[in-house]
Amino acid sequence: MCGASKTGRQGEIGMGLFGKLFEKKICSICGGDIGLLGNRKLADGNLCKKCAQKLSPWFDERRESTVAQIDEQLRDRERNLEELRGFSSSRGVGDGGRLMIDEAGGRFVVLEDADDDLLAVNPDLVSLAQVERVELEVEHISHEEKRMIDGKKQSYEPPRFLHYFDFWEVITTSHPWAKRIRFRLNGPSLPLHAEGIARRQPHLDAYHEVKAHIELPPAGLLADLGLNAPVELDCRTRQELDECDRCCEMHALIQSLLDASRADHKN
Ligand SMILES: [Zn+2]
Repeated sequence: MCGASKTGRQGEIGMGLFGKLFEKKICSICGGDIGLLGNRKLADGNLCKKCAQKLSPWFDERRESTVAQIDEQLRDRERNLEELRGFSSSRGVGDGGRLMIDEAGGRFVVLEDADDDLLAVNPDLVSLAQVERVELEVEHISHEEKRMIDGKKQSYEPPRFLHYFDFWEVITTSHPWAKRIRFRLNGPSLPLHAEGIARRQPHLDAYHEVKAHIELPPAGLLADLGLNAPVELDCRTRQELDECDRCCEMHALIQSLLDASRADHKN
């Protein structure tokens, strides 16, 4: 008797120390058990992995959301999936991600990866009337290309740089779950070989700045490089510029499609 009670006591102490860590958690939505490391915290509850996967692909406010809000979203997501079965896109734009717009229906969806399966991802159907802003974000990295002379890395004359660009479309909406939709217009990062343009901090106008330097270098830069006239663009750089320009055109097209149809649907 005495021994049994002792064991029980030790057990309680053990629970006190480790109980919190290993305490079984229950999903506040489906009531299922949540395994170790499987918990997705909510403001006032817990969410299992399986339920979390059903949230909007554009939703990033899970931690601040209540059980009631998540419950509402998941019911809404089921309706979204049903509506998607009848969705027919009249225009599609984007190589990396893809925006698909149903012009007659005045709504669109965006896939983060153009190859994703529409019904598997269940992207939110957003009405054009919910669009607030359409912006282009440019990400840019660059490094100097060097050559080996006498076993040492040395600059070319004039110096050569390799830039890489990514063009991101950012659509801000008043949709309750898909408030910020951000997807890449280009597929793989786009290279741009150029002479004489030093490394720059990434910023939004990086592409237009680099492009201006290539197509019409400032007089000061020409002198610095010991040149009298701009360098003839070789066909590789020309093609690279065309690829980047195509992304700027896709952005302009998206802007005009969303604006035009939005105007139609407000009338
Ligand atoms: Zn669950």
